[in-house]
Amino acid sequence: MLPYSSAAEAEAALGRSMTFAEAAWLRYSATVPDHLLFCHNVAILLVVYTLAPLPLALLEQLTPQAVTSPIKIQPRVRLSAAAVFRCYLDTAWVLLLTVGMLGIVSFPVVKMVGIRTGLPLPTLGEAAAQMAVYLLIEDYLGYWIHRLLHTKWGYEKIHRVHHEFSAPVSYAAPYAHWVEVLILGVPSFTGPAIVPCHITVLWLWFVVRQIEAIDIHSGFEFPFNPTRFIPFYGGAEFHDYHHRVGEKSQSNFSSVFTFCDYLYGTAKGYKFHKASLAKVCGCQISMHLIFKILHSRYYVYI
Ligand SMILES: [Zn+2]
Ligand SMILES: [Zn+2]
Repeated sequence: MLPYSSAAEAEAALGRSMTFAEAAWLRYSATVPDHLLFCHNVAILLVVYTLAPLPLALLEQLTPQAVTSPIKIQPRVRLSAAAVFRCYLDTAWVLLLTVGMLGIVSFPVVKMVGIRTGLPLPTLGEAAAQMAVYLLIEDYLGYWIHRLLHTKWGYEKIHRVHHEFSAPVSYAAPYAHWVEVLILGVPSFTGPAIVPCHITVLWLWFVVRQIEAIDIHSGFEFPFNPTRFIPFYGGAEFHDYHHRVGEKSQSNFSSVFTFCDYLYGTAKGYKFHKASLAKVCGCQISMHLIFKILHSRYYVYI
């Protein structure tokens, strides 16, 4: 709830005119208690989880396999619409219960670390810098938590649920045991706890993080994906390999960038896999060339 009764009072406190975004924020949040603003997280999470994976799911379900095969990472696998819908419902319930409960009990922590709701709003540069820091912190902590979840106990008791999809699809991004959903909240919130931000940046951070998770679980490797230009970004193919190997996987634990896997030597399996693929492709190209040459000679001799 903002401590201003009017726009004039807010502008007097700021010592300048409000921007369009600040005026909109004042209109929206002036009379909404802070704990209700924080509970928006759950609604935002569910809306993004419902809508963001939809285009990818429709592409997979409605397009002939022959069309999607060239851009599918595991082209032979196609889940039924019923299986995808079941995944969506299961995940939405887990998110609603775990993140909803967490939203209620964690509000005092959010206030304590200094997440603010008032004016001024952060600039775009400030928000981008904060989210870059959050990404790096989340990626590093997430890497180690993921490695711990691949110990025998962690995998059998918790992480095996997320690995039920050996060929992930967009709606399976947050599909996990409720304990894992809670645990993975820790690296996501550590950044904002260390570098506190405005609540709108916190919402944006959760949206970005969720879209990134959907991207790496999409099952598609698009040639025009703009994330290809982000240095060290792992992407769908990198994480897909981790799912394909499953329980025994000791490779590709990073969820955003790849440097932890290269730094701690957990990308060896993936590198070997890529090298083997390159060899097979090289052989196929060579065979193709040989056939072409033989074919052209055949015509010359005729
Ligand atoms: Zn895993
Ligand atoms: Zn995954």
